[in-house]
Amino acid sequence: MSGLYPKAMAKLIDAFESFPGIGRKMAQRLAFHTLTMDDSHIDTIAEAIRNIKKEITYCSICCNLADSDPCSICKGNRDKSTICVVQTPKDVIAMEGTGEFKGHYHVLHGLISPMDGIGPGDIKLKELLARIREGAEEIIIATSPTVEGEATAMYISRLLKPLGVRVTRIAHGIPVGADIEFTDEATLIRALKGRTEI
Ligand code: ZN
Repeated sequence: MSGLYPKAMAKLIDAFESFPGIGRKMAQRLAFHTLTMDDSHIDTIAEAIRNIKKEITYCSICCNLADSDPCSICKGNRDKSTICVVQTPKDVIAMEGTGEFKGHYHVLHGLISPMDGIGPGDIKLKELLARIREGAEEIIIATSPTVEGEATAMYISRLLKPLGVRVTRIAHGIPVGADIEFTDEATLIRALKGRTEI
């Protein structure tokens, strides 16, 4: 198919298609759209892509993506006693979007998954342990309710509880707006376990 396009066009389509979630059709649309863009816009995008790895660093405390080390959250005066543990930097953005959490974060950059050969040593647990020694009091584990997310939560809980720190797990349950009758059993069980007083 790419053979039908001029070489430069085929190359750009291939480049777009290499992004996750972008299929052939979307890649073609983006490539055609790029043709209509003015040079300065194209330069801005090309430069942003070229610089992303040079200008972004990781915070040595919470392991989140940052402009500088330590990051603005670790440097600021938020509640240091509570740390919310998440899988990826995108999860930090999602939690921050709620405006409800005032503590600190810790980004694991992965989940324990023996099937994929990812063990505890492959995610940022050593860094989390160091923070417990610095005096964190509650660790909220906010990994997804998947097999790997649950396994990682259990592992962290067993690792940290003997250190005298409170380990909690975010509640998972029925999505807002959903019907009980169409909710699967695993979700219902979690929803029951995570019930709160009203
Ligand atoms: Zn940080």
